[in-house]
Amino acid sequence: MTCSFRGLRNRCIQSILILVSLMAGAARAGEFPAVPGELLVRFKADASQSAISSSNESVGANVATHFPGDPQLYLVRLPDGIDNASGMQLYNNLSSVEYVEENLLYEAVAIPNDPFFPQQYGPMKISAPDAWDITVGSSSVIIADTDTGMDYNHPDLNGNLWVNLGEICDNGIDDDGNGYIDDCIGWDFAADNNNPIDINGHGSNTAGIIGAVGNNGVGVAGVMWTTRLMVLKIGNSPFPTAAIILAIDYAWQNGARAINASWGGGGFSTSLRASIERASNAGVLFIAAAGNNGRNIDVTPFYPASYDVPNIIAVANTTSTDALNAGSNYGANTVHLGAPGTSVLNTYRNGGYARYTGTSQAAPHVTGTAGLIYSVNPNLSAADVKNIILSSVDPIPSLQGRTITGGRLNAGATVLSTPAP
Ligand code: CA
Repeated sequence: MTCSFRGLRNRCIQSILILVSLMAGAARAGEFPAVPGELLVRFKADASQSAISSSNESVGANVATHFPGDPQLYLVRLPDGIDNASGMQLYNNLSSVEYVEENLLYEAVAIPNDPFFPQQYGPMKISAPDAWDITVGSSSVIIADTDTGMDYNHPDLNGNLWVNLGEICDNGIDDDGNGYIDDCIGWDFAADNNNPIDINGHGSNTAGIIGAVGNNGVGVAGVMWTTRLMVLKIGNSPFPTAAIILAIDYAWQNGARAINASWGGGGFSTSLRASIERASNAGVLFIAAAGNNGRNIDVTPFYPASYDVPNIIAVANTTSTDALNAGSNYGANTVHLGAPGTSVLNTYRNGGYARYTGTSQAAPHVTGTAGLIYSVNPNLSAADVKNIILSSVDPIPSLQGRTITGGRLNAGATVLSTPAP
């Protein structure tokens, strides 16, 4: 490509930019479902507030959201008549812009089926009772669940709800100065309010797999009988990237040790990946569902599971007989291990119980196990905990050549091999 002719110079630069963004794996406008009329724009580190304002004005866009985790990142709303592709082109032409991408949508990766079955195979399959001989969890270990919210009144969940002790509820003041007013029990980042109630059911299910109250004579037991579930609602599914980024930053900035991500399927997002990297740098694990497309994600990535960030553990769905569920994604180089995710009974919205199938159910078994390890030794790093989980798997034939470890989660073995603090 030559760019010596003055008149062609801008076009050349534009072509190079497009090439660079393709090389980085960025999604093209319209390639994946996205919120219409909204873009995530990251301005260069040296772009001033006034340069950012005049850039937005030149496009005619309004700022919809700021991101506490990244002051150069903005969610903008495009003016009427400008679609996402045109808006991206306008921003790409501005020298103040580092990158621009769509506000991609990700989906909860499970479908509910038969409610109210009286058994759980997950905890037995992962030898959780061996772990429970040593620890049943701890109220000082905070686990964030980014999902459809949680039925925080559920008798099997309420006792393990994280409460923000730095906030005085309903006084209209951001008492702890974290940028959220009256965030007493988490936040709804899609609706931007302090009520992360679950009207879908998916989030109540994943939260219960992690930490439904155990040994209380009610319903089911989570992998952790005791924990603090930080409820970070990112929508009713599908989930917009902007809400997800806010939730991930909230998690690591407010004390969570691990983040559960039982969702995915949108395209590559530079800003979403960057938020996971911030969590990684803060020493917080990110456990992601590998997805339910029955495909090899080494070949066709599934985000966020496929992002190359050190804190990510990508989880496939294994059955009660240790088969790989036919619907589960896999990948010898990108999916770390398997965990129970087939017809998993756990908590549901409105005080109920339901069975779900999917990698959405597999991931929280791993997340809860990470919480058990932290309960034994809170001084471990995220890398330590990830290593303990991956080195403690039970090898199973169905995962050989289909996951990095070739094995299924063994919570008992992880806790037995966790060093004392
Ligand atoms: Ca607050």
